[in-house]
Amino acid sequence: MAYTAMIIGGGISGSLCAIALRKAGISSVVWEAYDGTADNVGAFLTLPVNALDVLHTLDVDISELGFGTPRMTITSGSGRKLGEMPYGTALPDGTVSRTVKRADLYRVLREHTIRCGVQIEYGKRLVDAENTGDAVLARFADGTTAEGDLLIGADGLWSRTREIIDPDAPGPRYAGLINTGGYAHGITLGGEPGMMNAIFGKRCFFVYTSHPKGEVWWMANPARATEPTPAEMAAIAPEEWRAWLIDLFRRDCGPAEAIIAATDKIFAGWNTYDVPTVPRWHRDRMIIIGDAAHATAPSIGQGGAMAIEDTVVLATCLRDSPDIASAFTAHEGLRRERVERVVEQGNRTGGWKTLGPIARIPRDLIMSLGMKHMARTGNDPSRWIYDHHIDWNKPVHSSP
Ligand SMILES: Cc1cc2nc3c(=O)[nH]c(=O)nc-3n(C[C@H](O)[C@H](O)[C@H](O)COP(=O)(O)OP(=O)(O)OC[C@H]3O[C@@H](n4cnc5c(N)ncnc54)[C@H](O)[C@@H]3O)c2cc1C
Repeated sequence: MAYTAMIIGGGISGSLCAIALRKAGISSVVWEAYDGTADNVGAFLTLPVNALDVLHTLDVDISELGFGTPRMTITSGSGRKLGEMPYGTALPDGTVSRTVKRADLYRVLREHTIRCGVQIEYGKRLVDAENTGDAVLARFADGTTAEGDLLIGADGLWSRTREIIDPDAPGPRYAGLINTGGYAHGITLGGEPGMMNAIFGKRCFFVYTSHPKGEVWWMANPARATEPTPAEMAAIAPEEWRAWLIDLFRRDCGPAEAIIAATDKIFAGWNTYDVPTVPRWHRDRMIIIGDAAHATAPSIGQGGAMAIEDTVVLATCLRDSPDIASAFTAHEGLRRERVERVVEQGNRTGGWKTLGPIARIPRDLIMSLGMKHMARTGNDPSRWIYDHHIDWNKPVHSSP
């Protein structure tokens, strides 16, 4: 179909959606709220194998970024190793999950999008959109407008498109956790580079991994029952983050305290959210994908992967369906059950990070028994998440 799509948001799903649409023969323009150099996001993320499988389909190569993360360990705050497991099954060509700096990923995706001939318009914050019969008219905060055959809201957690499609749509749900982290230098930890080490500490969750060149990348999730306001978060000075974290890990056996001490700049923290069920993903010629439709708490490292998977599914649905409405229905039919199951699992895992001293004991026992069982039987209960493959060449059957 010779559509022209407007993609709102030039993040992970927006860029890849443009690339996937291009592969499906559909042209698009990306409209991004921030200016072109706003790759400000200092943190890192791990792209699991199911996301890398999609990047292979789209010929997007990130093998120069970050490092492979084939396995993860889980340890308790008392230093007891609860288990070790693969970070998903390696792809047939040996590719394993990969940990990358977010800013690097955004840069590579942006460069690839531009190489595909897609135009990216910066400084364009969507404020409203309306169906005009045979098109969609988008209005931006700077007073300009644009028109296209369809509008794809890839505008993230706080999606404006979600509200435009359904003013009653639920917003993000606070997960009771704060995120912070950093990059530590000049510290020798031993252990395998690339191994993701999760520590369910006595008072706080900590995760770290060593770059083969020596830097240690880490994140911590202090629990806080009530949602801090942006003003409260902004009022915490960098050295206060350090002092708070060191205090939280003081009674743990692992290397958290030393890693934090070896970090020059600790990320100013931010709250953790998910978006469990958005009843309406699409209306007329508008649809939401990625975090806008189903943000996943970072606890299972799959939010970006779900956003990435969405892009190829939507592109194949638009490629094979007789019209936009049936393409959107087919997309939702193929995606909703999977992503909501992943969001639910992320919520459960996040809940494990907020437990008090008594509930931690059965948690650690359950994790330890579960991982022993997995090691013995090879039966990984998360395999359905990682082993998911989307076949670009398989026609999508949709009904008009
Ligand atoms: C701490 C943390 C760790 C994480 N770790 C992992 C991980 O290890 N693995 C993983 O797979 N996922 C991880 N995630 C989740 C992942 O980052 C998100 O799921 C992913 O970024 C979602 O991509 P997206 O394209 O939907 O949204 P985003 O990447 O957030 O992009 C949205 C874009 O839309 C733009 N925008 C917003 N509003 C407007 C508007 N009105 N008009 C125009 N543009 C707009 C924004 O500027 C942004 O560029 C993590 C998340 C967090 C918070």
